[in-house]
Amino acid sequence: MSLIHNTAAELGAMIAAGEVSAAEVAGAHLDRMAEVEPKVGAFLHVDRETTLEQARAVDARLQAGEKLGPLAGVPIAHKDIFATRDMPTTAASKILEGWHPPYDATVTRRLREAGLVILGKTNLDEFAMGSSTENSAYQLTHNPWDLTRVPGGSSGGSSAAVASYEAPLSTGTDTGGSIRQPAAVTGIVGMKPTYGGSSRYGLIAFASSLDTPGPFARTVLDAAMLQETFSGYDPMDSTSIDAPVPSVVEAARNADVSGMRIGVIREFAGEGAQPGVLARFNEAVQLLESLGAKVVEVSCPSFETALPAYYLIAPSECSSNLARFDAMRYGLRVGDDGTRSAEEVMALTRAAGFGPEVKRRIMLGTYALSSGYYDAYYGQAQKVRTVISREFEAAFHQVDVLISPTTPTTAFPIGERADDPMAMYLADLYTIPSNLSGNAAMSVPCGLADEDGLPVGLQIMAPVLGDDRCYRVGAAVEKALESRWGGGLLAKAPAL
Ligand code: GLN
Repeated sequence: MSLIHNTAAELGAMIAAGEVSAAEVAGAHLDRMAEVEPKVGAFLHVDRETTLEQARAVDARLQAGEKLGPLAGVPIAHKDIFATRDMPTTAASKILEGWHPPYDATVTRRLREAGLVILGKTNLDEFAMGSSTENSAYQLTHNPWDLTRVPGGSSGGSSAAVASYEAPLSTGTDTGGSIRQPAAVTGIVGMKPTYGGSSRYGLIAFASSLDTPGPFARTVLDAAMLQETFSGYDPMDSTSIDAPVPSVVEAARNADVSGMRIGVIREFAGEGAQPGVLARFNEAVQLLESLGAKVVEVSCPSFETALPAYYLIAPSECSSNLARFDAMRYGLRVGDDGTRSAEEVMALTRAAGFGPEVKRRIMLGTYALSSGYYDAYYGQAQKVRTVISREFEAAFHQVDVLISPTTPTTAFPIGERADDPMAMYLADLYTIPSNLSGNAAMSVPCGLADEDGLPVGLQIMAPVLGDDRCYRVGAAVEKALESRWGGGLLAKAPAL
C-alpha cells in the first residue's frame, strides 16, 4: 500500500492529522503519473512545479491553523474544460490551443479554496462531444483495464486518471452521459448531480441546458465529499439552484436501502445490452432485494426517444455556443495576413480549428434551428423532452430511485466506432434521459462481464435534488459487493 492506493477521505484525514504532507501526497501521485502516463495518456497538461507549489501552499495554510475542508491537500485531476487561470484550457480543441483563461471556473475556485491540489488537466472529446475520448484533437487516452480499449468519454482522461491510480479524484462534465459512461467502463464511481446543482460558470459550454459538472472517485464516499466541495448555489450561473439540499456525504455514510422502493426500467433491462452487462445488472437487482429494498418493474416507454431528441437539442445549443470561436476575441487565428476580410479569417480558422465531430454537430444544430425546420426538429425535440420529464415524475411517485445498466456494453476497442457516429451515440442510450429531465444519476461498479472481464456499471437515477438517494443506494451496493470482491473492483484490474 502506498499513498496512491489510499482513498481521498483517508488522505484528507492523514494530512489533517499531520501524518503526511500535501506535498508528499502530490509527489507520490506525480511519480505515478510519470510512470503510467506514457501508456494511459490521461493528461493534456501536467506541470510538476505548479502542482508542488500548490501543495506546499496548502501545507503552509494548514500549519498556520487555517480551517480547510476535509479534502485539503488531496490531489485532483481536472477536466480540461474548466477554466484555470494558471494552466491552459483547451477543451481538447485546436481552436483553443495555448489559451490561458484570465479567470477560474467556479468549480476550480471552490477546489482551490478547499485546499485540493490540481495535478493537471485531463483529456476529453473535443468540446465534450463524444463517448470515447477519441475526438480529442491532441491524443488518445487508453483504458487502464485494457490499453487497446477506450476509457469512455467525453471525460475519458478523468476516468482513466482515477482508474489508474494517478489521482484519487477527478472532475467531469455530463451533458449526455460523459461522467457516468466513462465511470462505468473504467470500473469507478461517477455522479451527474441534479442540473443546476453544480455551477457552469467558467465551464466551456457545449449544451447549456444539459451541461453538469460532477465528480469521479474510486469510492462512493469520496465522490460525495468531492461533490459537496464544489457544488451548491452560484450567483454567477443563471440556472444554478438556490435551495437547501440533503447532505450527500451523510447519505454515502448511511448506505442503507432497507425499505426503499427501487424501480427497474423495463425498456432498459432487456435485450439490446451485452449479455455480461445484463447478468451483472440482474445480480445487482437481487442484491438490492436481499438488502431489504422493494424492487418493482417500471415502464418508461418514451425513454427510447431520448437519444434522437438529445441529438437535436444538444447540437442546436452547441451551434449557438460555439459561434463565439470567431478567431477575433481569443484562440486560434488562421490566414490573417492583411489581405483577407474578417469573414474569410473566421471561415479559415473554424475550418482548421474544429474537428469533424464538432463540425457535424454545428451543421446539424444550425439546420435544426433554421427557419422552416425549427418546429419540425428543435420544437419537436423539446416536446419529447417534456414527455420524458413527466415520465420520470410519474415514476418517482411510485419509487424512490430507478435503476438500469449504465451502458449497453463494456469498453469497446479503440477505433471500433470512430467512423460510425450512430454506434458511438448509442453508448449513451441509458444515460441521456436523466440529462433531458435534469435529475440526479450515478454510476457505481457492479462487477465484470463474463465475456471480456471488463467493468460493468449500475446506474442509479433519483429525482431532481434527490442526489442523496443515489449516494445511499450506491454506497449500499458498494459495501455489499466489496465484501465479495475484497478491496474493491479495481483490485481485480490487471496491473499497469
Ligand atoms: N456522448 C454524448 C455526446 O457525444 C454525451 C457527451 C457529454 O455528456 N458531454 O454528446
